[in-house]
Amino acid sequence: MKKIVIAIDGYSACGKSTTAREVASILGYRYIDSGAMYRAVTLFFLDKHISLTNPKEIERTLEQIHLAFHVNAHGTTELFMNGINVEKSIRKMRVSENVSPVSTLKEVRHAMVAQQRKLGKDKGIVMDGRDIGTVVFPQAELKLFLTADIQVRAFRRQQELLEKDKLVDFHTIIANLTDRDRIDSNRKESPLIKASDAIEMNTTHITIDEQVDEVVRLAVGKIVRRS
Ligand code: C5P
Repeated sequence: MKKIVIAIDGYSACGKSTTAREVASILGYRYIDSGAMYRAVTLFFLDKHISLTNPKEIERTLEQIHLAFHVNAHGTTELFMNGINVEKSIRKMRVSENVSPVSTLKEVRHAMVAQQRKLGKDKGIVMDGRDIGTVVFPQAELKLFLTADIQVRAFRRQQELLEKDKLVDFHTIIANLTDRDRIDSNRKESPLIKASDAIEMNTTHITIDEQVDEVVRLAVGKIVRRS
């Protein structure tokens, strides 16, 4: 069977990662969470107090960051930065509140896009993010663009955080999601927009299982056609 690239883009907290992870597992594909990479860079910049207005310092700092995805014993992909598992620390509000400004920097984007393309060079990959179908893999065989009502997205994000024993106020989550969507959609470098050939899925009234089934159905259609 020929392998394809599946690009899943969309607004924050629309269920992109959960859908992408499940679809990858069903198809036996590799799952890459590109947002985790931007979050890890943000964590490093915060810890080292890197100025976002000094391009030379940004480039020097990026050279010190080594990112690698590893699959754990439960089959879940986790991100390691310089040999340390950063999955937990990159999901904290401190990172969520600073990741979008860091992701506007062209030096950061160029470095991440280069790594993401390497990860997808053999296909058989599901990658989720904001610019996967437009910039990282414009030739992806299947592109999805996920949307959902802000209240539903904020509620789902709050539940996710609660599962990690973190109670975050609903309005703080709404403010963070709205802020990130605004910065992500309006930045100069690869803004969040729907690729012209992406299929839009509004996930407000559908469950994760329904989202997954639909993406797998679309993917199988593409795979069969290519084989
Ligand atoms: O996917 P997640 O919500 O974890 O992404 C965190 C942030 O990383 C986004 O709000 C966005 O600023 C940035 N990002 C990006 N391009 C991607 C993936 C994420 O700019 N491909």
